[in-house]
Amino acid sequence: MEIKVQEIPSEGLSLSYEEDPMHWGLDEQEISVEGMVHVQLKAVKHNENNVYIRGAIEGGILSECGRCLVHYRDPIRSDFNIEYVPTPQIPLEEELILSREELEINYYQGDQIDINDELRSQLLLAVPMHPLCKPDCRGLCPNCGENLNQKTCSCPAELPNAQWSKLKNLL
Ligand SMILES: [Zn+2]
Ligand SMILES: [Zn+2]
Repeated sequence: MEIKVQEIPSEGLSLSYEEDPMHWGLDEQEISVEGMVHVQLKAVKHNENNVYIRGAIEGGILSECGRCLVHYRDPIRSDFNIEYVPTPQIPLEEELILSREELEINYYQGDQIDINDELRSQLLLAVPMHPLCKPDCRGLCPNCGENLNQKTCSCPAELPNAQWSKLKNLL
């Protein structure tokens, strides 16, 4: 999606659309998005050339549970606020560039903002680091590999604990 800065009205521009995330050049090894991603954007100019964008993306990705290794659909959402300013004509001092990065400022060239790079990184940021199919996933039996969410295996229950209780009896 490209936003033409000169066409943003004074009351701001609201956009809401479905996007095929493959248009963002995602690496399928890195992330497997299921279906379309819903994008909501509100762009407001706060002077002639500087634009604030508040946005949210929502979608679903295919994740592998870290405990039971089952593949499941994980809903993801990311909210963000970003300021776009024109690429400076004169190179900035290094310190200035650093402080600008901390403020989440992006640059645009010419008269339009290409938001796709930002949407792409927001989507990647929303991917959970430790995916779980459900908060109380019971995982796999370390002994026989049975998925304990589906059935209970006949392995002796938690050997280490049994050892501990024997020890307790000795005390
Ligand atoms: Zn699981
Ligand atoms: Zn087992």
